[in-house]
Amino acid sequence: MTAIETLTNTSKDTLRDVLTRLENQGAALGHFNVADQTLLKAVVAAAAETKLAVLIGASEGEREFFGARELAALVKSQREEFDLPIFLNADHTHSLAKAIEAANAGFDSVVIDFSALPFEENVARTKEAVQAIKAINPAILAEGEIGNIGTGSEIHETAQGDPRTLSTPEEARQFVEATGIDVLAPAVGNMHGMLKSMVQGKAKKHLDIERIAQIKQAAGVFLTLHGGSGTDDEHFRKAIAAGINIIHINTELRVAWRRSLEESLARDPNEVVPYRILRPVVDSVKQVVSSRLRLFHGENVGAGAVGNVA
Ligand SMILES: [Zn+2]
Repeated sequence: MTAIETLTNTSKDTLRDVLTRLENQGAALGHFNVADQTLLKAVVAAAAETKLAVLIGASEGEREFFGARELAALVKSQREEFDLPIFLNADHTHSLAKAIEAANAGFDSVVIDFSALPFEENVARTKEAVQAIKAINPAILAEGEIGNIGTGSEIHETAQGDPRTLSTPEEARQFVEATGIDVLAPAVGNMHGMLKSMVQGKAKKHLDIERIAQIKQAAGVFLTLHGGSGTDDEHFRKAIAAGINIIHINTELRVAWRRSLEESLARDPNEVVPYRILRPVVDSVKQVVSSRLRLFHGENVGAGAVGNVA
């Protein structure tokens, strides 16, 4: 049993409590996106198996498909059933209306993403959304984003993001001060989605660890690493030590979901019972989530245990 496992993780903890506790332990909170109940079951099963906190994420597209209120109700129910800190985040929210909708639905945090706009406009729109969601729920955590880390948790032909738009410590400090955000998502060499070579396990993402440490120092708030899929394990460990508090994994889950679904369907062309087809999919995705959770909590998962989803 590790030191982390001896902690009393319960459903009564707030997201802020958990992030503070993990930071003191040198660990990070895993964030996993869900688009349907199969993925949700997999993430919750991984939390139950490892007895670790998780942050479930849903982007605007995922919320639209699942239903924001339906997802919030299911997560609340699972949190109570398992008595574990299972939180819900409204990932990449691009409008004030969608941020308010998520806060009203009971989400624990909102990623306010106006990072495609010029800096001053990003500041103004983010600040407005922070105030609006905190008026609905003062305990909600607001995340803001600066820099360019590409879009789409998918398999890409060419690299996403632009190395010229990595975040600087000075703009991080200014952005946090001007907006009142609780969590900052900087661009530090991370990117959304995976290249084909990463899906095949032939290449890994590398992070600018020094920049993370400088941004942490300047910003003084929790930091999120978006686009974590396909990142080198050692870089994850160093990024957490440098000040990363939340790590987003989406594409790895989607790759595992699709591959296991194809395998399950191919196993018996006459099988039509949904839960027999989908149960192996839940198990496959759960394995990816459990491995990542253990890595983010400093457990030695062994080379190649995660990251190579091929
Ligand atoms: Zn993201």
